[in-house]
Amino acid sequence: MTTITSPRPTLTVLKADWLFDGTTESLLPHPRVLLDQGTICAVEQTDVDLPEAQIIDLTGSTLVPGLVDTHVHLAFDASSDPVGHLAARDDADALVSMAAAARRAARGGVTTVRDLGDRGYLSLALRAAGRLDPTLPDIIAAGPPITTPGGHCHYLGSEAGTADDMRSAVREHVGHGVDIIKIMASGGNLTPGSRPELAQFDPDLLRVAVDETHRAGLTITAHAHGTPAVAGALWAGVDQLEHVTFMTADGVDPAPPDLVATIVERRVNLSLTAGMVPTVGPAPPNPMTARRPALLANLRRLCASGAPITAGTDGGVNPGKPHDAARWAVGDLVTAGLTPAQALRACTSHAALACGLQGRKGRIAVGHDADILALQGSPLDDPSMLHRITAVFVRGTRLEYAVRPRTAGGFPAGDP
Ligand SMILES: [Zn+2]
Repeated sequence: MTTITSPRPTLTVLKADWLFDGTTESLLPHPRVLLDQGTICAVEQTDVDLPEAQIIDLTGSTLVPGLVDTHVHLAFDASSDPVGHLAARDDADALVSMAAAARRAARGGVTTVRDLGDRGYLSLALRAAGRLDPTLPDIIAAGPPITTPGGHCHYLGSEAGTADDMRSAVREHVGHGVDIIKIMASGGNLTPGSRPELAQFDPDLLRVAVDETHRAGLTITAHAHGTPAVAGALWAGVDQLEHVTFMTADGVDPAPPDLVATIVERRVNLSLTAGMVPTVGPAPPNPMTARRPALLANLRRLCASGAPITAGTDGGVNPGKPHDAARWAVGDLVTAGLTPAQALRACTSHAALACGLQGRKGRIAVGHDADILALQGSPLDDPSMLHRITAVFVRGTRLEYAVRPRTAGGFPAGDP
């Protein structure tokens, strides 16, 4: 028995049967996790003798870190017309909708989200609100994505056509206090007339964005579908890539080995689109549906390559992409060849690293934020246990609810 003395009445002990700490291959038995308000201050395997602590008995449960989704859009409402709905909302209404989306993420076990495209820097306002509101997940915010004039997601408000425009756009984002820069290296499916298979920017202009971002001490991630955009973004020196589908006008290219080798060598994080949630009724038309077998083949190649991988669900872009879709992404990465432990690491500790939150998020370890899920069984044996959540703690506060179990399934996503 371990005795810890503390005069403070703010301590909580979570008692459970098993624990996955976000980094290991196996589970730790009999965990006792001591929380001091929102922070984990001890992880023990024996009962903690601490009379003043509140004991929360989660016997029968497996504790795992809260999930970290590296690609969501809180401003899109996961309807069949997210762009139209956002356009019809003023900023105040949009913020209400975004807060609801963020709360859905947290209730579904996603305690940190990286918002890679808002309008008017609204995700930064919500990020600030979340620091005082334990029902909201932590938000890493990119603000509006930088795109070409009239290009993919131009309606979100950040267009750059020249080197001077690009420097101004990056500086404006930095001035607002974004956590990361997001640039649209290719077209996307959510913008009529946009062509995902084509590069949007000349690689020289991407390099201006990379240099200006790095000068400000930030990282930059590129939305890149087609091979030319992936190649251009790698040449320009981006730190991370989104989607990386290698889609063509009518299909999907096999992932080119030379580009995969460059990704692996430079440790460019791949935020891969996973987490398609089963929907009720007929699925809306999605240009990615017919491509799914070839997309899965590429996902397998990338997962087998040794590249740093996280899961970005694109939560919000269609009804199959609610903001808590990350629970399904773990199973999708297992389908793509990762072990359950690797898939969970991709969605916890590795995702925290990609978000610059290592040491704070993605692990159940001393000094980390107490973002913790209790599950009815081990996700290392069965990833669908992520749908059997019995408790969610966000920075030490337990959310009031239980999610309804749903069938896991689906596979990579369409994307905006
Ligand atoms: Zn997106």
